[in-house]
Amino acid sequence: MKVDVVIIGGGHAGCEAAHAAAKMGCQTLMITLNPDRIGFMSCNPAMGGLAKGQLIREIDALGGIMGRNTDCTAIQYKRLNSSKGPAVRSSRAQCDKNRYAQSMQRMLAATPNLQILADEVLEISVATATVRGVKLRSAGFIECSSVIVTSGTFLQAIMHMGESQIPGGRHGDQNAQNLSASLKNLGFRLRRLKTGTPPRLHKDSIDWSKTDPQPGDRVPLPFSFYFRPAQFPVLPQVNCHVTFTNLRTHEIIEKNLSRSPMYSGAITGTGPRYCPSVEDKISRFKDKDRHQIFLEPEGLDVDEIYVNGVSTSLPKEVQESFIHTIDGLERARFIRHGYAVEYDAIDATQLKRTLESKEVAGLFLAGQVNGTSGYEEAGAQGLVAGINAANRTLSRAEFILGRQDAYIGVMIDDLVLKGSDEPYRMFTSRAEYRLLLREDNADERLSPLGHSLGLLDDTDFAVYLSKRDSIRDWSNRISESFLYPDTLTQAKFEKFGLGSIKDRVSAAVLLRRPEVHWETLVSLGLPFEGVDPIVSEQLEIGVKYEGYIKRDMELLETVRKSDEILIPQNLVFSTISGLSHEVRSRLERVRPENLGQMARIQGITPAAVANVLIHLKMLKRESSGRVEPV
Ligand code: FAD
Repeated sequence: MKVDVVIIGGGHAGCEAAHAAAKMGCQTLMITLNPDRIGFMSCNPAMGGLAKGQLIREIDALGGIMGRNTDCTAIQYKRLNSSKGPAVRSSRAQCDKNRYAQSMQRMLAATPNLQILADEVLEISVATATVRGVKLRSAGFIECSSVIVTSGTFLQAIMHMGESQIPGGRHGDQNAQNLSASLKNLGFRLRRLKTGTPPRLHKDSIDWSKTDPQPGDRVPLPFSFYFRPAQFPVLPQVNCHVTFTNLRTHEIIEKNLSRSPMYSGAITGTGPRYCPSVEDKISRFKDKDRHQIFLEPEGLDVDEIYVNGVSTSLPKEVQESFIHTIDGLERARFIRHGYAVEYDAIDATQLKRTLESKEVAGLFLAGQVNGTSGYEEAGAQGLVAGINAANRTLSRAEFILGRQDAYIGVMIDDLVLKGSDEPYRMFTSRAEYRLLLREDNADERLSPLGHSLGLLDDTDFAVYLSKRDSIRDWSNRISESFLYPDTLTQAKFEKFGLGSIKDRVSAAVLLRRPEVHWETLVSLGLPFEGVDPIVSEQLEIGVKYEGYIKRDMELLETVRKSDEILIPQNLVFSTISGLSHEVRSRLERVRPENLGQMARIQGITPAAVANVLIHLKMLKRESSGRVEPV
């Protein structure tokens, strides 16, 4: 059998990668251990959240499928930070876990050029530093020109619960034993990472009267810019609930810490600091007498309640006794106990920004295997790897998103420059230009690219163009619509606590005031009713934050310039004078692609950047035969 692109894995990275490569016209084969678990949510049945919501919007804007699939299966929407600045507003949705996976499987089944095979990839076959194919446990050899590894938490994975250690990629799934050795043989540096999950409880065993209901947004906003179902939200919406740990809970956990594999030394892998287990929380935040717990339904017609906030790998009986100390959970029945999983990940500094290996042409890696954590981070990388594998087959230019273009660009730049000492997750604070990289304008930033790649359909692109035109049109209208200081208007201003006006004032100028929103303009009598809230939000942000946005755009230009100065991949850093031994070895290890990237590597000084710049200029002069002072 021969195909263009092989995807190893059917997790969130694998789904986006397979969909993108196939949609762009490549014969694509997804090989996964168990096709029934394609698109399965290993942990929390929720999509989005701070900075992760931005990632989903970016995937959607480019023509990916995570946002649409979320909208098909969401049972609660919540916009986080909605009262804060636009840079940090992010959407989150609780999904129906089974429906999410089923809907993803249907989307992939309907994707032309895509086949799915249940098997285990044992080895990636490479000759003259180029991918030739993959060797499978059952189906033999499959020839291909590109391979995308999206093996998630499965490589040499061990699940831990108390003293028990069971090989497995996650509950109910075998692990992958051989692929790590193949990656090692190809020169990849592997490391152990770990993540964990909390218990699942039976919904009928919880005393809901002792918990606080948390409803979703009254007017939910979809994740996808383009998926417009006849009815939105598609599924009935439900509440989550909140309860808290207490001193009795902490006492039980503390007493049994030595039985947690993280504290007994059984787990050596590094876990996510920002998403600590309950054992970590109790040890690190000793002064806190309670921790918040969200009780989240895993679906509309399932019994499981996900106990968000108490990820644990303590023995079963300890989990039961500490859970039963919590308000509302005194009689809770366990459907599944919490556990931790330890797995192999690669050093992502061995990848280019296309997510292709620096050493093996045609070999791409994406998702948790690159040291990240989270569905959205995985999906975003899968999309970039899928696009680049397709571009390679189609002999097209590489697709690279910069830090200034997208959160996806920030994440990949961080990964390939710094790698990750612990599972990497996206935060808004990682983005320098977060006022420009908002979730509301992801389509403006990325949809023209998605369309030119052949990922975003013409019909969806037409929706984008119409929104863009509407924003331009309304932008003119608000500058040209005026209110005059007549008696009626003054009365309205007074009624809304806006003081009074002396001269005529345009709607755009009014909208600059923090207390004035689009609805205020409508209430003041301006004919602005019925505008799509997505359009009015973007207009309001554009007007209110005009100065900051302009400043960020100027800064961004400077960064773009240094990103345009390319560093030849065969440059021998030891020949450059003035670089310390430490700087040289860092540069040899990471091999930055351009001067901007070099400056962002930890421990690289401005003086080192200046030395490399002088050296590059010298090389340029020599190659052009010109002699002139530096
Ligand atoms: P996965 O979703 O893990 O998918 C990997 C795929 O690769 C699977 O389809 C598997 O069958 C396939 N595969 C692997 N090796 C082979 C092979 N050799 N041949 C064929 N197929 C192969 N994320 C968070 O953000 N927060 C959390 O708290 C959190 N907790 C977690 C707890 C647990 C117990 C687990 C297991 C995961 C947790 N995650 C958490 C991580 C989240 O599940 C992942 O980030 C996400 O699923 C990664 O997507 P992926 O596509 O990279 O890999």
